[in-house]
Amino acid sequence: MEKIVVIGAGTMGNGIAHTAAASGFATTLIDVSQEFLDRGMKTISSNLQRGVDKGKMTAEEKQTILDRIQSTTDIESAVRDADIVIEAIIENVTAKVQLFEKLDRLTKPECILASNTSSISITKIAAATKRPGKVIGMHFMNPVPVMTLVEVIRGIATDDETWQRVEDLSKRMGKTPIEVNDYPGFISNRVLMPMINEAIFALYEGVATPEAIDGVMKLGMNHPMGPLTLADFIGLDVCLAILRVLEDGFGDPKYRPCPLLVKMVDAGWLGRKSGRGFYSYPPSR
Ligand code: NAD
Repeated sequence: MEKIVVIGAGTMGNGIAHTAAASGFATTLIDVSQEFLDRGMKTISSNLQRGVDKGKMTAEEKQTILDRIQSTTDIESAVRDADIVIEAIIENVTAKVQLFEKLDRLTKPECILASNTSSISITKIAAATKRPGKVIGMHFMNPVPVMTLVEVIRGIATDDETWQRVEDLSKRMGKTPIEVNDYPGFISNRVLMPMINEAIFALYEGVATPEAIDGVMKLGMNHPMGPLTLADFIGLDVCLAILRVLEDGFGDPKYRPCPLLVKMVDAGWLGRKSGRGFYSYPPSR
């Protein structure tokens, strides 16, 4: 497993490429336009620069890592000799299914096709290919270079060899892989999102202020961030979309999104990225 191709140069894709290259892998980063690639590479460079400024690496080491990353919009030639492709494009089932059909045609038969999806069924994505045994979920956490977990999701057909190769790769990338079967929300979002939703219900019902709800969970449960602060960080639209996946996937009303969450998303109050969520984020902050 020496050549890693990452598709999507956004928040997650550039973090995965950064981590792969810093772990010594020849890495290729792909996106639909040069502009997105340049933005992704700039983010990697400035994140590495922070390490240089803190004395954790030299400027030469930074450059060596950057030199290990090729960026291109030419997917056909980039994936031809890949050992693994890690997909980190938008969270849209049609886009992912189309991409996996294409990757199945373009890559060598033993190449592993991994998805960083937060909530889409790995089994469904795998069914779009002729190699469902080699399709797997590699759910990295944001920010990728910092967070050690990779939730590795086995679809119904994922074979043992693929799991073992991905377990080994995750460790070589300095991560801790945890094996999870493919059901809605996997483990991370199945446990996290109901907690966030319950915190929003508590606010909606006037039980406490946002600061009080977050304060209880931080000081009482030792969470580094309260659930409402975390929801603002993740994006309220993303939280709502994942709750819908849980609600639809299990057909269980216990995952019903809080009406306040729905209303805030309708208003465009999406958290940090829109400047307003449960808290306000003035541009200067
Ligand atoms: P993002 O919007 O920051 O980046 C997505 C990138 O993919 C964009 O640069 C876009 O141009 C590119 N893209 C879209 N379609 C493409 C295609 N067909 N081919 C090549 N590139 C394409 O998104 P993100 O936050 O990095 O999320 C990516 C994936 O990771 C999603 O599936 C998301 O659910 C998952 N995820 C996100 C987080 C998070 O905290 N942001 C955490 C874990 C998992």
